[in-house]
This record gives sequence, C-alpha cells and structure tokens, in this order.
Amino acid sequence: MPFFVMAKTVLKTIFRKPYTIKYPFGGLIERPKARGSIAIDIKECIFCGLCQRKCPTKALTVVKDRKEWAIDRLRCITCAACVESCPKKCLVMESRYSPPLVMRQEEVFKGA
Ligand code: SF4
Ligand code: SF4
Repeated sequence: MPFFVMAKTVLKTIFRKPYTIKYPFGGLIERPKARGSIAIDIKECIFCGLCQRKCPTKALTVVKDRKEWAIDRLRCITCAACVESCPKKCLVMESRYSPPLVMRQEEVFKGA
C-alpha cells in the first residue's frame, strides 16, 4: 500500500515545476508580506541599543559613541524583534531579500 501512495505522489509531482528557485538567478518572486531583510532609517536612530539587546541572535551592534549601527545579515533570522522594540520606529522589515554573501561581514550604517 505505501508503494502506491508513493507512486501516486511521484506521478502527481513529476511534471510539475519545482517549488524552489535558483536564487539569486531564476527570477525572484517578490511577496509583499515576506520577511526579507531589515532596513534602517539611520537619520532617525538615537543609538539607544534597544534593538541590539532584543536581538536573539546577536546580529546587531550599536556603538553610541561612534553613532554606528551594524547588522550581520548571516546571523539575522528576520524575527523582527528589533523592529518591534525600536522606540524611534526607524527599523523596518522589507520584503526584499538582501543579496547573497560569500563571507561573514557586518553592514555598517553611520549617523550624522
Ligand atoms: S532601537 Fe532603534 S533607535 Fe535604538 S539603536 Fe536600535 S535602531 Fe536605533
Ligand atoms: S530581525 Fe531578529 S534576528 Fe534580525 S536583527 Fe532583528 S532582532 Fe536580530
């Protein structure tokens, strides 16, 4: 019996296009509600460090003295805890994914 169940599934899916895409090639589908990547409006940031403290994966680094806000995108799990905790509402979850990375690096934003 399990063989027939499996055979039915194979026949149903064999001619169907794959659900996966060859990111970043293969025509990325944008979904408006997707959790893509975190963006910051650095002009509004007061470098309070609340987002850094709330981040469960330690993806964020905030240095108040130097007015720097940095994100390690390979650590970010797009949970949006930082977005919800920001008192200035300067963090947003964008639906676009960040470009693929080949090595770990922080993306640094500097305030004025
Ligand atoms: S919580 Fe908001 S205002 Fe505070 S450091 Fe993070 S991004 Fe800046
Ligand atoms: S979305 Fe989550 S994991 Fe990513 S930086 Fe914000 S709090 Fe950290």
